[in-house]
Amino acid sequence: MASRKRPATRLQPKVAARRPSQTPKRKAVTPRFPLQRQFDFQEAQGRYFNLRAIFNKLNARYFRNRIKDYRLVWGRKRRVRPRETVVFGTIQEEDRIIRIHPLLDRSFVPLWFIEYVVYHEMLHSVVADLYDEQGRRVVHHERFLKKERCFHWFRRAKAWEQENLARFLQ
Ligand SMILES: [Zn+2]
Repeated sequence: MASRKRPATRLQPKVAARRPSQTPKRKAVTPRFPLQRQFDFQEAQGRYFNLRAIFNKLNARYFRNRIKDYRLVWGRKRRVRPRETVVFGTIQEEDRIIRIHPLLDRSFVPLWFIEYVVYHEMLHSVVADLYDEQGRRVVHHERFLKKERCFHWFRRAKAWEQENLARFLQ
């Protein structure tokens, strides 16, 4: 009986003593970060463009890295092309998602054009919407449009959009 008790009492404190000192702090911080970043990049990777890389560049250049915790995703590919107009980008602020139309992930699309589209959506996250007298929401109000023109290739991007819109339609 005495020999049965002894190993039990000896083992327990050893195990208990090892656990708390080794685990918590290091594991919580380091390994999660690179994995999350890796996931963000993979999710945002198209055939030609990586939306996460574009977002990070714009965030540093125009927003002092203030825009946090957004997912960058490509929209679902559809079999039928739009007829009259294409919504190149959308932002869902509650869910913190910026979604870019997959038709932009093509070789003829200049980087500065897709950057413009991402910049526009990012701008929505920092410029508040306004409401007119009828209570309707105005998202592209004067202050927004003024800030939009801060994008370096704004004119070029707008002109390119006009000239190339037909290539995205049916
Ligand atoms: Zn907009």
